[in-house]
Amino acid sequence: MSEQVDCVVIGAGVVGLAIARRMALAGREVVILEAEAAFGTHTSARNSEVIHAGIYYASGSLKARLCVPGRQALCRYCAEHDVNYRNIGKVVVACEDAQVPAMHKYMEQAKTNGVDDLRLLSRDELAELEPNVRAAAGFFSPSTGVVDSHGLMLAYLGDAEAHGASLALASPVVAGEVTDRGIVLRVGGAETMAIECRTVINSAGLHAPAVARSIAGVPPQSIPPTYYAIGHYYTLTGKSPFNHLVYPVTRADWLGVHVTIDLGGQVKFGPDFSWIDDVDYRFDESREPAFYEAIRRYYPGLRDGTLQPGYTGIRPRITGPGEPAQDFTFSGPSDHGIPGLVNLFGIESPGLTSSLAIADHVANLLT
Ligand SMILES: Cc1cc2nc3c(=O)[nH]c(=O)nc-3n(C[C@H](O)[C@H](O)[C@H](O)COP(=O)(O)OP(=O)(O)OC[C@H]3O[C@@H](n4cnc5c(N)ncnc54)[C@H](O)[C@@H]3O)c2cc1C
Repeated sequence: MSEQVDCVVIGAGVVGLAIARRMALAGREVVILEAEAAFGTHTSARNSEVIHAGIYYASGSLKARLCVPGRQALCRYCAEHDVNYRNIGKVVVACEDAQVPAMHKYMEQAKTNGVDDLRLLSRDELAELEPNVRAAAGFFSPSTGVVDSHGLMLAYLGDAEAHGASLALASPVVAGEVTDRGIVLRVGGAETMAIECRTVINSAGLHAPAVARSIAGVPPQSIPPTYYAIGHYYTLTGKSPFNHLVYPVTRADWLGVHVTIDLGGQVKFGPDFSWIDDVDYRFDESREPAFYEAIRRYYPGLRDGTLQPGYTGIRPRITGPGEPAQDFTFSGPSDHGIPGLVNLFGIESPGLTSSLAIADHVANLLT
């Protein structure tokens, strides 16, 4: 069976759905092809659900440029579409004196990125905001929040469908070919088919480089290598000892074992960081002692036996161990020379926060 479709989005995670919505709202005929039997079961369901303010990202990077407007657009969207979210605020802490200069660097970086509402906390203010947190210094980010990521994806999908888009589940893209009639995608699943498309947006997350490689005619040099970095989350039993999210100062490319409080009031700690070879979400319980140690640096009251294994998420990395941290990478027609094709690579944090801004960016690459 062969079909013709104006615009195909590969992958129904939060980013693919935001793009499908954006294209459908612009009047395009959109089909979303999703390999799994449900939307949003990979990275979009396995993250911290934090609406990032835009503090950490390198000046001028796409992460910095898309996070701040993305956060503003996301909060407006959630308010208008009844998606559950909350600007709970975040306290960033230097656990030791030696980390205070790095903490001030975060504040400077935030200012450069257009985040102008951070407030340096005195020791008294810190103790008042978070009486159970021990730190040498800290600052407060009032515009950091949390969002119901499943509700957000449902809203994006609903909007896209209301504008004529359709979602095909259990429809993995297995191969493709660049032709003079457009891009032909081969779709597996129960009913295999070929689809001839004018526009293809590859938003396959952890598998985006593999999908790009499976399309004959896409220049190999335009496709980055694939690396995976797993993060574990533990949950805390009992009532929250925190009033806000709490992030310790840590290395440049990772936000550390931080505190998130979800919309149901559940406290989560994580994610940690380690390189893995394949997409494998199994929880490694041997990490527990390292979690107790990391958390007690800022929350010394953590009692033995109160951490429970939660879940894992995997970062879609395109740079490997020892290399500089990556930026969001969009490979469009002006990069690879193929009209109508955009590949999205390395869409890790803050991809959820930035999803609406990413959708605008991708649409602009196609005009
Ligand atoms: C541990 C962790 C914590 C994070 N925390 C935050 C946070 O707090 N705030 C924030 O803003 N961001 C956060 N992020 C980043 C955010 O979760 C991601 O940027 C976002 O979810 C990526 O969405 P996506 O649609 O690109 O990918 P995904 O959600 O992975 O979706 C890709 C989809 O493509 C499908 N697919 C794959 N191959 C094929 C194929 N061949 N054919 C068809 N479909 C295919 C998959 O099944 C999947 O549904 C975090 C990420 C991680 C890993």
